[in-house]
Amino acid sequence: MDTLSQLAAIASPNHFIGGQRVASSEVFLDRSPIDGSVIAEVARGRELEADMAVAAAEVGFRTWSKFSKERRSETLLRLADLIDEHRDELAELETVDNGALLRSHRQGVMPRVAQNFRFFGQWLLGLDHPDFETRGHTNHVSWDPAGVCVLITPWNAPLMLATWKVAPALAAGNSVVLKPAEWSPLTASVLGDLTLEAGIPEGVFNVVQGFGSEVGAALVGDGRIARISFTGSVPTARAIARSAAENITPLSFELGGKSPTIIFGDADLDLAVDIAVEQFDNAGQVCLAGTRILVEEEIADLFIARLLQRTAGLRQGDPREMTTDIGPQIHGDHVVRIEGFLERAAHRGLTPAIGGGRNEDLGGWYFRPTIFVDPPSDCEIVQEEIFGPVLTVQRFHGEQTAIQLANSTKYGLAATVVTSSKERADRVAGEVVAGTVWVNCFYVRDLQAPFGGSKLSGVGREGGNWSFDFYCNLKTTVTSPKGW
Ligand code: NAD
Repeated sequence: MDTLSQLAAIASPNHFIGGQRVASSEVFLDRSPIDGSVIAEVARGRELEADMAVAAAEVGFRTWSKFSKERRSETLLRLADLIDEHRDELAELETVDNGALLRSHRQGVMPRVAQNFRFFGQWLLGLDHPDFETRGHTNHVSWDPAGVCVLITPWNAPLMLATWKVAPALAAGNSVVLKPAEWSPLTASVLGDLTLEAGIPEGVFNVVQGFGSEVGAALVGDGRIARISFTGSVPTARAIARSAAENITPLSFELGGKSPTIIFGDADLDLAVDIAVEQFDNAGQVCLAGTRILVEEEIADLFIARLLQRTAGLRQGDPREMTTDIGPQIHGDHVVRIEGFLERAAHRGLTPAIGGGRNEDLGGWYFRPTIFVDPPSDCEIVQEEIFGPVLTVQRFHGEQTAIQLANSTKYGLAATVVTSSKERADRVAGEVVAGTVWVNCFYVRDLQAPFGGSKLSGVGREGGNWSFDFYCNLKTTVTSPKGW
């Protein structure tokens, strides 16, 4: 067994249902993006396993929803501490499984995973609302647990995105069935063990492994579930919404993006280049990435020259090396998908200024950071989410054109504005249609703030009270002053 599979072996490749490891009659192969080798044979769930997991979660719900909020909070804080204790092994496992940089997993991602539980575990205690009075009647608002929540997550930040949903769902008193992505199934499995160790009763947190079109589809069509929270692509969201419509199951969708990074002529050029280069993080596999760079004409040539120079200096390689800037893509199939965008761009006569294909020196799953300069607005590489290390740079004249270009795709997840004028930043932030706008920064966000997308980038918001709005059945109890 090589080191990659040794690490993968700390995670069970089986389902985690009712606190037990459950195998399936079939398996699928999990490959490491680092070298494409098989690191685990993972249980391939279908309707049977979806049914078992929802049934176990119904049992778990009966216990967990009766825990006092103080006890729920203490248990979630214990889970946060356990994640901190296991930070390094979770970071290494995630890197081997999804290929994102080990240093990011250690320093940023796994601390945030723990923080998800710590934040919602504490927020729960402050959840309150003053009573309303109507003609002497008291209107009391309560945040009741909703039931079994099905959470479906992608591969680009597996444990971070999963726990962003698991933590508030559990904090609200619900039970959970988590379906991680089939390209990065392993850390969800370790989370199962940690929930038991933290004192979360069996059946409250369940994980089913398998393909979206099989076990995922079975879960979202189940009439017993109370909520579906999904992070992933727009086509999958459409399929889930169709299934959920049958039972009118409430949905939360965090979907794709094609976010603009708008750089004005008065911007700090060093900062603008830093922010642009940051868009290659996680090999461009970040929903929020501002891959559509819009730069004001007066600084465009200088900015483009600096950006190309910085991009040429990025070190691509094994994501476990601390000096690596860009690791592999998640999967060979995903590389083929990215290549498809470039082939179609080539048919339109577009050639990248840098990059443009696989880094064959490193094996098939590494794609060179790529930049297209001055592509037309209506072309696919400007309009569609590539989800790889591919940036486009377009020039604009004046604020109104920048806003019009920024709003010219079907997405509305995020936008970044780089300018030294506060008034301009306020005006542009007000006009851009996006769930999050960053001004002279990128990626910073408080967990109390609402997070989500506009237009095709999502439905609903999560974070702080917005998460509890979604994961609770809000109830108003009106009491007459008479009769006591
Ligand atoms: P995807 O939609 O292919 O898969 C996401 C999850 O859905 C996987 O677990 C998959 O197995 C499951 N799934 C697929 N078909 C299903 C079905 N019919 N029923 C139920 N579940 C099904 O997305 P992906 O390729 O894994 O992830 C990339 C996408 O996710 C990108 O579009 C990216 O922008 C988006 N994303 C959005 C956010 C956000 O917060 N807005 C964060 C990360 C990723």
